[in-house]
Amino acid sequence: MYSKVLSLRFPKKLVNEPVVSNLVQKFDLSFNILKATIYPRKEGLLVLELRGQRKNFQKGLRYLKSLGVKVESIGQDIKRDEELCFHCGACTAVCPTGALYIKRPEMEVIFDHEKCSACEVCVIACPAHAMTVRFNRSLLY
Ligand code: SF4
Ligand code: SF4
Repeated sequence: MYSKVLSLRFPKKLVNEPVVSNLVQKFDLSFNILKATIYPRKEGLLVLELRGQRKNFQKGLRYLKSLGVKVESIGQDIKRDEELCFHCGACTAVCPTGALYIKRPEMEVIFDHEKCSACEVCVIACPAHAMTVRFNRSLLY
């Protein structure tokens, strides 16, 4: 199963069209709407998590493109604030990928960004709020 958080910008003429339900019916995709807004100029913005088979996902994106919907991918990135981190080690106990670990004998907590799956568990666990989520946007169409 493939999943991505997308932002869809609808031109005015499409705001009342069943575009998202067509994604479900035509391409066997499922979705979870995270944000829906209609701007004063009647353009629509929808942020949703879209899930399905990868090939259906690509077909769904092509369908959106053919309608004139602008699609952006929103990826998550986890950052550590080095000033706030006091190397308590709490995050290393919960990190499922080993991206946060204790380097011995220095007892320093290392954050290996390459191993991070952006699951956000450390964001909740960190008592210093040193771990934060950053959203990156990239234009798909
Ligand atoms: S839980 Fe927070 S303060 Fe403690 S080591 Fe991890 S990032 Fe640093
Ligand atoms: S977001 Fe998840 S995988 Fe990444 S460092 Fe935090 S707990 Fe580990």
